[in-house]
Amino acid sequence: METSVPVFMRTHLDAAARWWGGERVDIVPCMMLFDHGREASVGPRTESGPGVASAALRVLASGSRGNCSILGVRTAARRRFALIDAGLSPLRTRRLLGAMKLTLDDIDEILLTHLDSDHCSAGWARGLPSHITVRLHADHVGRARRAGLPSDQLVPFDDAFTLQSGVTTRPILLSHDSAGVAAFRFETGAGALGFATDVGRVTPGLVRHLKGVDTLAIESNYCPQMQIASRRPAFLKQRIMGGAGHLSNAECREAVKAIAPAQHVVLLHLSQDCNQPDRARQAHTSAPYKLTISRQDKPTPWIHVAKDAATAPPSIAS
Ligand SMILES: [Zn+2]
Repeated sequence: METSVPVFMRTHLDAAARWWGGERVDIVPCMMLFDHGREASVGPRTESGPGVASAALRVLASGSRGNCSILGVRTAARRRFALIDAGLSPLRTRRLLGAMKLTLDDIDEILLTHLDSDHCSAGWARGLPSHITVRLHADHVGRARRAGLPSDQLVPFDDAFTLQSGVTTRPILLSHDSAGVAAFRFETGAGALGFATDVGRVTPGLVRHLKGVDTLAIESNYCPQMQIASRRPAFLKQRIMGGAGHLSNAECREAVKAIAPAQHVVLLHLSQDCNQPDRARQAHTSAPYKLTISRQDKPTPWIHVAKDAATAPPSIAS
């Protein structure tokens, strides 16, 4: 059930001296829109991200064949990393991390939006290193156990929690099929990140939950015309388009308009059969934020999460 959400205050940390070195792709200026809203749930307000000098997101892969992103945080002491979803096999995840000069030893924890196989690959039941905790919504624990994930590494949430990096994370549970899906608001201290995929429909609660984040990663799954014209069975079209499946390009645009992210939008989970990057991009033509379109077969660059993009933060990449 959804309950009311407070308005959040961002923490204010000084920008650090070193500068961000990330590249950018698929950057398109576009126009902001407005509206939408309904009730949502979140935990109590807490301060977040103590000592965080920079934070950045990189989508390793996104789509129906597997979703995995990495959130990197640099503090004065060290870099810390968490995965958001683990929908790639452990082997592929290790390879992609290796290309970034990282290993699974660098990963503190995995946050799961939900347990569908494109967000939690079956291989992690046996391939999960013992030092990695899996954070998942309390409603998803039973399914995780049945999937074979080690019980002693599952850390359920139903309220705000703090990552090992010090980042305050506020979840909200939304409808997606029967068990629901968690969306996240990360208060990193360097900036706020919203992450929402497989949300089914845009609710007022989701909008309030993510309102005004600096960087927003959100699904833009399908083009309705392509979906209707596809050879998919009617029940599947209904599941996807019926409000408990995925957001269309237009629904994504409306969500972004209402959430009004300050700096950057990352489009997630584009359907390979029923969407095209250009169609997803068109929904954001002339918007004032930067736009990155994630892919199934290639990671995005590091996308930094910062209140002021003109003040480049220290690099996460090295
Ligand atoms: Zn999915």
